[in-house]
Amino acid sequence: MREPSGQTVGAGALLTILRHGQARTRAELVQLTGLARSTVSQRLDALLDQRWIVPAEEAISSGGRPAIAFAFNRNARLVLAADLGATHARLAVTDLASTVLVERAFDLAIDRGPEETLGWLVATFREMLAEIGHSVAEVCGVGLGLPGPVEHASGRPVNPPIMPGWDAFPVPDWLGARLGAPVLVDNDVNIMALGEHWAVRPETDHLIFVKVGTGIGCGIITERHLHRGAQGAAGDIGHIRVTSADDVVCRCGNVGCLEAVAGGAAMAVRLRQAGETAENSRDVVRLVRAGNTQAVQLIRQAGREIGDVLASIVNFFNPGVIVIGGDVAEAGEHILAGVREVIYSRSLPLATQHLGIRASVLGDRAGVVGAAVMVIEHVLAPEAVDLSVAG
Ligand SMILES: [Zn+2]
Repeated sequence: MREPSGQTVGAGALLTILRHGQARTRAELVQLTGLARSTVSQRLDALLDQRWIVPAEEAISSGGRPAIAFAFNRNARLVLAADLGATHARLAVTDLASTVLVERAFDLAIDRGPEETLGWLVATFREMLAEIGHSVAEVCGVGLGLPGPVEHASGRPVNPPIMPGWDAFPVPDWLGARLGAPVLVDNDVNIMALGEHWAVRPETDHLIFVKVGTGIGCGIITERHLHRGAQGAAGDIGHIRVTSADDVVCRCGNVGCLEAVAGGAAMAVRLRQAGETAENSRDVVRLVRAGNTQAVQLIRQAGREIGDVLASIVNFFNPGVIVIGGDVAEAGEHILAGVREVIYSRSLPLATQHLGIRASVLGDRAGVVGAAVMVIEHVLAPEAVDLSVAG
């Protein structure tokens, strides 16, 4: 007896099929995979045993007899997700469909260093789990976004400019030892791109998520997957040179960077010079919303500067959608108008024909949803599920 695809269609592959609704019953799984009925039964038992699936409502089979249907159990495990920014943090506990079960937002300075920040994170996660009547034993993974470059494979920050003490800190080991689950770390823009893509635009193959906050960066989704680049540095558009910033020194040490003229911190500086009270990107947004003429002009111009860089990226990458998110994007249409104006006049017609330029739908929740998605994709990968049922 031969099973043509039996070597590769393990329990994890069956779970993926059930999760995506391609089959619901034992008979449908046999038909779809070509596996023997006994093999399918064995693998379903293993998945039931680990609670990855649950019996669902009865389905009517083609012969008219009721058959047992199986469904992915989104409550099988819990995910801890955190989006740490320069000055604020958002934490969430989610299920395996990235649905937020409980969430909290805080003012938190990342420059307090890794041990103090992560110690606080562990304590707060434990409180949140207790609040919804669960424990860390049910957690299958922890996803964390940080406001700086991260080497994704090791989860270590790499020379993060605004995070003193964090360089090369072994975040996954430190957190994993205290929470007893695998820990995945990425930069905040990548997880925001993941979250927005998964929750809002899963059908978009090629997407650019631009975060305009204190600084500027982008996350790249290509063929529906996050593109991190060779060292995890892909998408760092904030330090691309723009001609209008030729005489402006950036925090990275170079002159002429995009974020040195169009980032939230840079705009706050200009507003202070003009006599306004503006400490950070949130103050810029507050002034724009209040109709302050200088702030509105400044943010429109920032939109054009960002659009100028994105126009080249549109020609190079041909995305289907550009999503603008981050604190400054909360200022609404003013920044989008500037971005659209330049991209549509500067990029090639073929590349802009069906291009959508949109505000983030998830807003300040994109990061925690994306951090959860990063963990879910890792835990539910067929080979990971195969290992969990074997163990
Ligand atoms: Zn720079």
